[in-house]
Amino acid sequence: MTTRVGVIGASGRVGAEVCRAVEADDDLELVAGIGSGESLDALVDAGAEVAVEFTTPASVKDNAAFCLDNGIHVVVGATGLSAGDLDELRAVAEAKAVNCFVAPNFAIGAVLMMRFAAEAASHFAVAEIIERHHERKLDAPSGTALRTAELMNEARSERWDTPSGGEESLAGARGGDSDGVRVHSVRTPGSVAHQEVILGSAGQTLTIRHDSLDRASFMPGVIMAIKKVGSLDSLTVGLEHLLDL
Ligand code: NAP
Repeated sequence: MTTRVGVIGASGRVGAEVCRAVEADDDLELVAGIGSGESLDALVDAGAEVAVEFTTPASVKDNAAFCLDNGIHVVVGATGLSAGDLDELRAVAEAKAVNCFVAPNFAIGAVLMMRFAAEAASHFAVAEIIERHHERKLDAPSGTALRTAELMNEARSERWDTPSGGEESLAGARGGDSDGVRVHSVRTPGSVAHQEVILGSAGQTLTIRHDSLDRASFMPGVIMAIKKVGSLDSLTVGLEHLLDL
């Protein structure tokens, strides 16, 4: 039996790729594709069992909450959900006995990059993250960069020995500060999604780098999440929970 899937943000760059990937999978059936300004009721009318959300930071929470409220499992790829938003989504999911899966990055290589960075975190004094995305990305830093810093901080008991860099003659030159991990966001045409984690201590640096060169890189993770979301907890954050790492 196939799983009935709806895509929210279906005409976006990632959403369109998700539609193609769902259509190409024999176990899935694309029953609705929602664009900007279209009613989410189409998901309910089409009998979607799982919705995939790839819109914008401004609309993702309300769209995900709508799905859960209507008994539809939701796989969320759009970034911008705060910790408070996730708590709200968990509460709706629990009340409606459906599940919400959120991944800041669906590329398996990026999940491994985050894991390796967390593993290295306690062995170095300083860590900085440089993330690079296409020029139309609406939020900075990326959800992946924030999640990487969070995982590195969780893996480490000591404070980072972050150098201030002295006086900034150009505001923002030292990047944002995520509990001691400096994060720098680069936006250029020609980029998709790229990240370097640079760790340093006396006499050595370790650089861990991942590049998504095409949006196809996200599809195996998205398809896996669509197939597994029904058997997860009410809220799961991070593709690492679906992988046998
Ligand atoms: P995009 O090309 O701008 O696509 C977003 C689409 O959503 C657009 O077609 C937009 O339509 C539509 N939209 C906006 N508000 C909507 C609403 N309320 N209901 C339905 N559709 C709506 O952006 P993208 O590059 O595909 O990225 C989408 C999101 O996914 C971003 O938040 C991005 O950061 C995130 N992302 C996540 C991953 C991951 O692995 N988790 C990977 C890549 C991207 P209009 O253009 O007509 O407004």
